[in-house]
Amino acid sequence: MEKVILIKYAELNTKGDNRSYFINTLYKNIKDKLDKYECSILKERSNMTISFKEKDLNSIIEVINHTFGIHSYQLATICDSEDEAIKDTILEVAKGEKFKTFKVEVKRSNKKFPIKSMEYVKVLGGTLLKNIDDIKVDVHNPDLLFKVEIRDKKTYIYTNTIRGLGGYPVGVGDKALGMLSGGIDSPVAMYLAMKRGITVDCVYFEAIPHTSLEAREKVISLTKKLVKYTNKINLYIVNFTKIQEAIYKNCDKSYTITIMRRMMYRIMEELTKKYKAKAIINGESVGQVASQTLSSMGVINSVTNLPVIRPVACLNKLEIIDLAKRIDTYDTSILPYEDCCTIFVPKHPVINPKLEKAREEEEKFDYKTLIEETVNSIKKIEVTEEEQNDLL
Ligand code: ATP
Ligand code: MG
Repeated sequence: MEKVILIKYAELNTKGDNRSYFINTLYKNIKDKLDKYECSILKERSNMTISFKEKDLNSIIEVINHTFGIHSYQLATICDSEDEAIKDTILEVAKGEKFKTFKVEVKRSNKKFPIKSMEYVKVLGGTLLKNIDDIKVDVHNPDLLFKVEIRDKKTYIYTNTIRGLGGYPVGVGDKALGMLSGGIDSPVAMYLAMKRGITVDCVYFEAIPHTSLEAREKVISLTKKLVKYTNKINLYIVNFTKIQEAIYKNCDKSYTITIMRRMMYRIMEELTKKYKAKAIINGESVGQVASQTLSSMGVINSVTNLPVIRPVACLNKLEIIDLAKRIDTYDTSILPYEDCCTIFVPKHPVINPKLEKAREEEEKFDYKTLIEETVNSIKKIEVTEEEQNDLL
């Protein structure tokens, strides 16, 4: 019996004219990931089918489970769209399952098939009842639902539907740059942004020797976890040491966090120009720490006009942790390495900073030149699933 994976698209109904763009992007994303397997992918308006070699099935399912834009999928058994073949196949499928009650649903897009759907439900139900002992029909709450789709040449029969991740295929949206720290929140924020179809490249600010190379490796590991949901992520490493030292040396201690974050946003803005991105994404969550009060966010945000997307802004910490566990970033995030944000943390950071005061404080050193130097010394790491990345 030949089996295929049958994929149903997510959120397509809301996309109107963009339907083919959505489907083509999803197709490309899946194809890139499955390139190394001997399989063929057929894209149609309402679904996609993947034919595969049995030995690759688990790896292919793993890819599908990490691909945005998929509403659901099933493992379908296919046969010719002919009465006898369909009966034989549904019996074969049934023999591989354990159930006491069942229901059959038929969808007949091939109008040349001579028996109408409702009638054919009874025919196939009868075939099952005649050939398998101790089973009966239950249309309300069956143990097993047989779905039969009769198409022009082939008929697809399946019993279980598995939910996909939903969302839009990565690439249907524009590109954004994400601020990826080694913490719990920002990887979840990147995941959620990618789920909206945004192509995300990441930026990590480090302050060697105040932060360690292990901290950088941790961020690379997190990027590797995230790249499973897309095909490639460029990780840009910013050497933030001079700027942090200058802030620490020159500015009012209670404003160091505010100013540090304003500098980060300024650098992000320069990088979006350099790498042609349209927005900044970060893991800020309202109220979590002093720099994340609304007034603080306002003072920090005022250095840029770019949209700043904060996917986890209104989630509780526990909700973020649940997501981090689900996407497998949590265990890496809790490894104990210093972040550049934490090393110079003042005892009493200002909770309600004033824009004028922040401006006065940062004018105490020549940050424009430092930012220019910093942007010019960016390092890039291309993170893909396959390659062994040069970690250091
Ligand atoms: P996270 O768990 O993501 O580190 P957090 O709760 O520790 O977040 P902050 O340290 O205040 O919060 O940082 C808020 C956001 O700013 C982070 O989610 C991240 O997007 C960004 N950020 C902070 N530090 C860095 C860094 N070193 N490199 C890149 N982005 C950073
Ligand atoms: Mg942090």
